[in-house]
Amino acid sequence: MFNGPKITASGPTLASRRCSPAFLDFGLWTLDFKFPPVNPFDDELNKRLTGIREQGLYRQLRRVDSPQSPRIEISGQTLLNFSSNDYLGLADEPALKEAAIEAVQKYGAGTGASRLVCGSLAPHHELEEAIAAFKKTGAALSFSTGYAAAIGTVCALVGKDDVIIIDKLVHACIVDAARLSGAKLRVFSHNDLNELEDILKWSRRDELRESHNPRHVLILTESVFSMDGDHAPLREITQLKNKYGAWLMVDEAHATGLYGPNRRGLAEEFGIASEIEVQMGTLGKALGASGGYICGSRALIDFLINRARTFIFSTAPVPAAAAAATAGIRFVQSNAGEQRRRLLWEQVAKLLSLLKLPEPQIPSAIIPVIIGDETQTVATADELLHHHCFVPAIRYPTVARGKARLRITVTAAHELDDLKTLAGALANVNRKSPAAPKLLSEGGQIVN
Ligand code: PMP
Repeated sequence: MFNGPKITASGPTLASRRCSPAFLDFGLWTLDFKFPPVNPFDDELNKRLTGIREQGLYRQLRRVDSPQSPRIEISGQTLLNFSSNDYLGLADEPALKEAAIEAVQKYGAGTGASRLVCGSLAPHHELEEAIAAFKKTGAALSFSTGYAAAIGTVCALVGKDDVIIIDKLVHACIVDAARLSGAKLRVFSHNDLNELEDILKWSRRDELRESHNPRHVLILTESVFSMDGDHAPLREITQLKNKYGAWLMVDEAHATGLYGPNRRGLAEEFGIASEIEVQMGTLGKALGASGGYICGSRALIDFLINRARTFIFSTAPVPAAAAAATAGIRFVQSNAGEQRRRLLWEQVAKLLSLLKLPEPQIPSAIIPVIIGDETQTVATADELLHHHCFVPAIRYPTVARGKARLRITVTAAHELDDLKTLAGALANVNRKSPAAPKLLSEGGQIVN
């Protein structure tokens, strides 16, 4: 039997090129080799993936077959979940689910186009009125994600004639927004007010001016830092921005719902919310739904409706998401919201005590355990899975190289037994793994 190349009486068709890159073209005659298909594109990507694996940075999705809650089902196993930003346990809360279902029944599943093109559905308006009332600002605008809110807003506010100053540890969406804006980007060391002031002085120098346009300076920080759980000195930053006539944008993604007398966020806690030009946040963390928002003056929101490209050129979020977020805000504003918050801080205090860690001045639901090495961090997280605890291994580029960590998050929905199981699992890993002995004892490398 002839096993060599098959001779076909046709030119090299697109199909033969696609399924068999190894062919010899003799005009009308194609020698079509039956080699396994080698796709140079995939080949290139597989090489890159190998590089990612070698650095201990490979990521893969884990399918979850249950709602986000303290217990999640992964691969048929029920695991204790210490990975979620659902701090108040609202993601599976009946009030939010019912609001989403009602919105689907009344307004349908989809939204058809962007809100400026096909009309703006009532649930989005209700959500924005709820955000503005909650945050006590003139107006608010919702986006499909917090990421989109950051990109759209920063790029609308500043451009190449301007300066943007960010804390070194801000979330990737802020870094990307700053880069994309084209503004001159300066980074200050984490929470370093002296460096921030030096950059502010520098930004005022006249030789920086490249055109006759007025130069604007935008300072951007998170209020509670997503991977460290510590907080920004917002009062001092506000004083500096006032002193140098800069604008301030604060991302309250991990603070909204948790801090301040009315749970508006850390800016409320510090009493400086009204001095911040741009308040940003997400709807997918303590608020239990998904999406992002910006709030501030009516002028800011009208400007963003006209200039924020991630808002203008993107299909509106589904009505269910907007309605769930509105219900989340109402829940947080209610007495039940205050109870949840209290419960959260109680649970956080219990876990810290079980782990023999000090309580920080301002509590945080984010407890990072820095291991450093990426591969060791993944191995430690895998070890915790054997103890039925799901704690994510956070690595570069989410944090700097060599700063890999376990990011433990506590929610109001956890129970004391869950916390004890985690503490027991960490102690066990501590005993067993050479990577971990100093994680949680002898002052360890815990950050906050
Ligand atoms: N800001 C911070 C501080 C975040 O942690 C995140 C996401 N985890 C975002 C913004 C982006 O929000 P979203 O997930 O809604 O895109």
